[in-house]
This record gives sequence, structure tokens and C-alpha cells, in this order.
Amino acid sequence: MIVITFDEEIEIIKKTFSLEGECINFEHSNIYAEDWNEDKNCWEVEYIDQVINYSLIHELGHIYLAKKLEFPYFAKTSREIKEKAEEIKKLLAKRRNLPNDLKEISDIFDYVNYIVDCFVNSNSFSSNQYYLLYLEYIDRTLRIIKNGFRFTNLHELLGGYITNYLEFNFNLKFKNKTLSRQKKINIFIRDLKKIIINNSNLTNEKFQEINKKLNYFNKIKNTTNPKDIIKFIFEIIKLVAFWNEVIIREKFKLFFPETDFSFI
Ligand SMILES: [Zn+2]
Repeated sequence: MIVITFDEEIEIIKKTFSLEGECINFEHSNIYAEDWNEDKNCWEVEYIDQVINYSLIHELGHIYLAKKLEFPYFAKTSREIKEKAEEIKKLLAKRRNLPNDLKEISDIFDYVNYIVDCFVNSNSFSSNQYYLLYLEYIDRTLRIIKNGFRFTNLHELLGGYITNYLEFNFNLKFKNKTLSRQKKINIFIRDLKKIIINNSNLTNEKFQEINKKLNYFNKIKNTTNPKDIIKFIFEIIKLVAFWNEVIIREKFKLFFPETDFSFI
């Protein structure tokens, strides 16, 4: 038996994602995350276990998507957002309430991240040896329904609905939509929708609109134009209608600086 070390496996992943020339630092941590390190001029990937798993591939998938579409902000947090995140951290540490502006940034940014993650997944798992890890991730997600959903936070639940709707419908391959898995998916989506409707002013009709918009994902999930992705995310957030368009646009300028937004 040939034993491959973690470092060797990383080299294989980098090759799969055509990232051989990239400077990527791996750092042992208590979370999975990645970002661009301005000082070191290098990507930084944080990982928990020294194994190749869904989370590690997903983090590298961010870098892959950013490189493929030549749009760094699918993998890199803007300086503007880093500064805002610091402010948020300080206020929360003092147990202060967030001012409206920071709360909006934080909530809208969460939706953006949720949806970017779906694009990351469709690009990084569909046509390689790592799809099995993705399938395990889907089954882990589906196991949540055993305990049912509890109402926690509207944005968190709706973000969860959007991201799982996209994953189940468009990133999970048709051949893996077995009867038993599909049944769990239907219950998952139905129950999540129900708890949101019961605890917000979102209606069934609104969800039909949201689903219709989300279905467009299938057409653009492998786009090579970052604008398609930004526009898709923008329109979803506009449609859920917690914020007006001007505010969303203003926040998008922080998430995706140096971007010409005339197309949305
Ligand atoms: Zn991610």
C-alpha cells in the first residue's frame, strides 16, 4: 500500500485545481477558512484536521473560483469588510448593539457568502475525485432534519434555505437523487420553508418567486463571468426585500471593491 502524506495530497489538489503556481500557506487552526494575506502576498488556508475532507476542498475551491474567473473577491475579503468586521467584533465584545449600518453589512454579507459558496461547490466538486466528499457533506446536512428545525434567526434560516435549495437541486448530481435521499430533501426544504413562513412576513407566494429566481442558478453555475454571479446574488437579496436596492448596492461596493456596478 502506498501511503500518501497530507502534503502530497495537497499537491494533488492544487494540480486538480490548476493552482500549482499559487502561494498557499496552510495553517492548523480550529476553523476552516481561507483568505488572501496582503503582508505575505500569499493565500492562507486554515484547517482543523490533517485530512482531505469536504471543508478543505471547499476552501481551496474559493481560490480556484477566484482564479478561474479572475475575480479575487470570491476568495478574498476586501479591506473595507475587514475593517467593518473589526468594528463589529469590538462592539460585540463590549456587548453593544450593532448600529444599523453594521448590522446590514453583516446580514447582507452572510447572504453573499452563502450564495458564493454554492458557486464554489458547483465549480470544485462536480468533475473530479472529490465529488464523494461532497455527497457525504450533503448527507450530513440532510441528517439535521432528524431533530427538526428550530426558529433561531430569520436571516440564518433563509440563508440556509437558499443555499440548500441550490445545493440539492443543482449541485447534487441527478444519479445521486435516490428515492430516499430525495424524500429527505423534500422534507428538509418543506420544513425549513414552513418555519420561516410561520415566523416572518414571507409568504408561500414569495417563496415561489424566490424559487423561480433561484432556478436560474442552473444556467449560470459554471459561468466564467463574475458579473453573472454578482448579479444573481444581488437579485436574490433584492427579492427577499429586507433592504432596499440602494442599500444593497452600497454594501456590494464594500464586498466587491473596484467593480463597476453599472450592470445591476
Ligand atoms: Zn465558503
